[in-house]
Amino acid sequence: MRNFVFIGSPGSGKGTHADLLGARLGILHISTGDLYRAEMSAQTPLGLAAKKLLGQGLLGTDGMTEELLRRRLALPDADGGFILDGFPRTMPQTGILEKILRERGQSLSAAVFLKIPDAAVIERLSGRLICTHCQRTYHVKYNPPQSAGACHECGGALHRRDDDQPEMARKRLLVFHAQTEPILEYYRREKLLVVADADAPVETVSRNIEAAVREFFQA
Ligand SMILES: [Zn+2]
Repeated sequence: MRNFVFIGSPGSGKGTHADLLGARLGILHISTGDLYRAEMSAQTPLGLAAKKLLGQGLLGTDGMTEELLRRRLALPDADGGFILDGFPRTMPQTGILEKILRERGQSLSAAVFLKIPDAAVIERLSGRLICTHCQRTYHVKYNPPQSAGACHECGGALHRRDDDQPEMARKRLLVFHAQTEPILEYYRREKLLVVADADAPVETVSRNIEAAVREFFQA
């Protein structure tokens, strides 16, 4: 059984690639963003509290994410391993993940970093469209919807998120460099870091990730 985390700046495609590698390896993809969205739409106490924070431009607290993850990993489909995307993003969160895994008698197998230059991220994010219904993402240039303005999975309307506008994208990159880069160094020291070039079309990046992961486990 293998447990992975995917790390990458906003717009690096980590959600997409966590999905693809999960399908390929037959293991569960857990997105903490999805866990939060599910709580919010079910209007649970945690979901309502998270919604309030998001409304103030804040994120869910580490305690909230810890509770969501603990609950998700307790479901039987997580027994075969998982790919976690969206967590950890900070050094304290690496400790939370380790604690949760240790309690389950498990450990992290690898931390996969999707490496992409900031300029490429800005271009990707400013063209990104998201389905208002199923949250599937598209890109005006790299992954256009079959019919303009509509999701081809569910027919929902597509829109550009406020935090994907170039100004916000730059701010999110600054946060990424400040908070998330230290965890790359940490995982490198722990000999868990796998780096894959993510500045390429989806199919190429997918192959890069698979090759990097294969090489890591053979080494
Ligand atoms: Zn949709």
